[in-house]
Amino acid sequence: MAAQTQARTCGLIDGFGRRVTYLRLSVTDRCDLRCVYCMSEDMSFRSRRDILSLEELARLARLFIARGIDTLRITGGEPLVRQGILDLFKALSEPLRDGSLHELTLTTNGTQLPRFAEDLARTGVRRINVSLDTLDPERFRTLTRGGSLAQVLDGLAAARAAGLTVKLNAVALKDGTEHEIHDLIAFAHERDMALSLIETMPLGDIGADRLDQYLPLNALRRQIEQRWTLVDIPIRTGGQACYARIAETGGLIGFITPHTHNFCADCNRVRVTASGTLYTCLGQDDATDLRAILRVGGSDDDVVRVIDQALGRKPKGHDFVLRRGTPPQITRTMSETGG
Ligand code: SAM
Ligand code: SF4
Repeated sequence: MAAQTQARTCGLIDGFGRRVTYLRLSVTDRCDLRCVYCMSEDMSFRSRRDILSLEELARLARLFIARGIDTLRITGGEPLVRQGILDLFKALSEPLRDGSLHELTLTTNGTQLPRFAEDLARTGVRRINVSLDTLDPERFRTLTRGGSLAQVLDGLAAARAAGLTVKLNAVALKDGTEHEIHDLIAFAHERDMALSLIETMPLGDIGADRLDQYLPLNALRRQIEQRWTLVDIPIRTGGQACYARIAETGGLIGFITPHTHNFCADCNRVRVTASGTLYTCLGQDDATDLRAILRVGGSDDDVVRVIDQALGRKPKGHDFVLRRGTPPQITRTMSETGG
C-alpha cells in the first residue's frame, strides 16, 4: 500500500527526467519459431526454475503499475506458448478494470492466435502487435526456420474476428523487404492494420553477420515514396518509432529506426525478462535482478525500492553499432530481453 501511495504522487522518473510509464514484460524466452534475425539455429533456453512463475510475474506487474506504469505489453520469446498464459492476462484485467492500468497488450508472432484471440479480447486486450516479415510462404519458412505463414494468417483473421486492433511489425531485411514492401503495405492497410517497419538491432549472436541482413529504413522509405504519398504525423509512442499516413490508403506506417534516427531522448519504457531481470535500456547492459528479491521473501516495498534505484541508473541511450565482423555488444537476444 505504501508503494501505491508513493506511485500516484511522483511515478517513475529516471535520472534524465524521463517519465517511465511503459513496461514490456517477457513471460518466456522460448518460441515456436526461430527467426533468423532474432535467434541462432541452435538456441538454448533458460531452465524452467530460472523463469518467474505466473504469480511472480503478476506480482511484479502489479508493483510496476502501483509505481506508475500505465501500459503493459506482454512479450517474449513467444508469449502465447507460455503454459497458463491466460491466467496472467486474467490477473491483469483487474488493474485494467479499476483504471490503474490503461492498456494491456501483447506482441506475438501470431501462430497461437486462433486458439487465444477471443479469450485475450475477453480479458480486456484491445490492441495487439503481430510480427509478420513476409507474405511469401517460402520466404516465411526460411526466415522463421520452418514456420507456416498460413498459421499466422489464420491468427490474424482470428484476432480481427475477435475485435482486436492489430498492428503488423516487419523487420526490414536486405534482399527481401525491398521486393515486397508495396504488397506488405497494401495487405496491412486493406485490413485496417498499421504497419511498422523495424531496423534490425545487434542483439545477441545469431550465427550470421547482421550487416548481411541490415536494410536501413531511410533507403526503404525513399523506395516507398516512389509509389505512395507519405504524410508525416506527430504520433510519438515514447519508443523509437515515427509515423506517417499513406494518403492513398489512409493507413499508418511506422519507422522504428534505432540506427538511422535515435529517439532515446523520449524513451518511456523499461523491460523485465522472464527470469525477472529489469533492463532499463534495450541497448545497454544495466541489469537489476528482481527475481532474487522476490525469492528471498522481499516485501513489496523492498521490490519497489530496487526498481526505483534501477530507474535512477537508466542510461541516456543505446550505443548500437553495426560494423562488419564486430560481435554484438549486447549478448542477449531480443527474445531473451523481451521485444
Ligand atoms: N515472438 C513475438 C514476436 O515475434 O512478435 C514477440 C517477441 S519478438 C522478440 C518481438 C519483436 O522483436 C518482433 O517484432 C521481432 O520481429 C523483433 N525482433 C527480434 N529480434 C530483433 C532484432 N535483432 N532487431 C530488431 N527487431 C527484432
Ligand atoms: Fe520467436 Fe518472435 Fe524471436 Fe521470431 S522474433 S524467433 S517469433 S521471439
